[in-house]
Amino acid sequence: PPAPYDAIILGAGAAGLMCAAVAGQRGRRVLLIDHAEAPGKKILISGGGRCNFTNIHTAPDRYLSQNPHFARSALSRYTAQDFLALVESHGIAWHEKTLGQLFCDGSARQIVAMLLEECAKGAVELRCGQGVSEVDHADGLFRVLAGGQSATAPALVIATGGPSIPKMGATGFAYELGRRFGLKIVQPRPALVPLTLSGADALFRDLSGVSTPVVARCGKMAFREAALFTHRGLSGPAILQISSYWKHGEDIAIDYLPDHAADWLLIAKRTSPRATVRRVLRHALPERLADALDARLALAGDLGNLSDRALGAAQARLADWRFTPTGSEGFAKAEVTAGGIDTDGLSSRTMESRRLPGLYAIGEAVDVTGWLGGYNFQWAWASARAAGEAL
Ligand code: FAD
Repeated sequence: PPAPYDAIILGAGAAGLMCAAVAGQRGRRVLLIDHAEAPGKKILISGGGRCNFTNIHTAPDRYLSQNPHFARSALSRYTAQDFLALVESHGIAWHEKTLGQLFCDGSARQIVAMLLEECAKGAVELRCGQGVSEVDHADGLFRVLAGGQSATAPALVIATGGPSIPKMGATGFAYELGRRFGLKIVQPRPALVPLTLSGADALFRDLSGVSTPVVARCGKMAFREAALFTHRGLSGPAILQISSYWKHGEDIAIDYLPDHAADWLLIAKRTSPRATVRRVLRHALPERLADALDARLALAGDLGNLSDRALGAAQARLADWRFTPTGSEGFAKAEVTAGGIDTDGLSSRTMESRRLPGLYAIGEAVDVTGWLGGYNFQWAWASARAAGEAL
């Protein structure tokens, strides 16, 4: 007998919903399965409830992957403008917040409703609250047992995301499934995640709640955004961004005064010789941070009485303040998972396995991880579209 479905998609998150809608609207009979009670839970909590659904500066160099070229094809065929056109066609009001980040004016619920409407247009069958207990492949058909019901199709799409925020139902199921069908896994790690401090650095935890614009650097990467001190260490957009590139044992360098001239303290010495380091720092930075840095620089007295050499060293240190994080807050707090299904095993045009025709992997499950700011959803939409058009 013919398979009742053309494709089974596992995971009704951002990627799974988009893929189902695209394939359904192309006339494919699609079954979309999720173990959660409702679809798109991460969309609902994203962007503080307003969903930062894309970024107009989307480009392949804003993604991490073992193969930095892999994302290029899908991203170029389904762009931020394409997704925005879909959002507008549903009458959803939006705004650009900062750095190209587009948000709903209203609520992330509008994005989920839009995707569900698109799925309905494609007559997608959506089953939620169904744990997947078995998946196998024989005679060119995938068979999925979920919620006690079995279904078969010649195509299976892995769209179950990554293990970040397990308390929301996120799992490493995609990797398990990928491995079973011959796909390799690039070691998954928490990304866009706060970093923890201890030892001498831990004193900065007393600044919990203080935020300031910085440039955060790790290796060759640098991000100019806000950093936030927390009771465990460092967070804020600049730190979340750099965390994706950070590896255990490496330093993070912070420039506290990225908008100051390199010789600003020497200039201050000339213009305000009676001022102290503390006073000029308080002028430029939040007071608690200024006082903490001043205490560590330990340059007592008026600027006029301090040597150029000492002030030069202080300037240099403030522009390159080193922290050695002890770790991150882990998958529990990571906005995304870096690593995942190795792109080597997938076609960059269709997201189909090179080894097992009919098997696809999309979204966060794949080893493509975006910067903070709407890039991860754009990857979910674009990779989903690529697969949906190939199914
Ligand atoms: P998901 O959206 O996670 O969907 C995976 C689906 O698979 C889920 O519905 C899950 O229930 C289901 N599933 C998992 N395991 C199983 C299983 N074993 N059986 C059946 N179903 C399963 N990105 C942005 O671009 N902009 C933002 O504003 C943004 N904000 C975020 C805020 C937070 C707090 C978090 C955690 C993430 C945020 N992200 C944001 C990242 C973004 O949410 C993800 O990158 C994106 O959702 C990935 O889409 P996906 O479809 O691959 O995975």
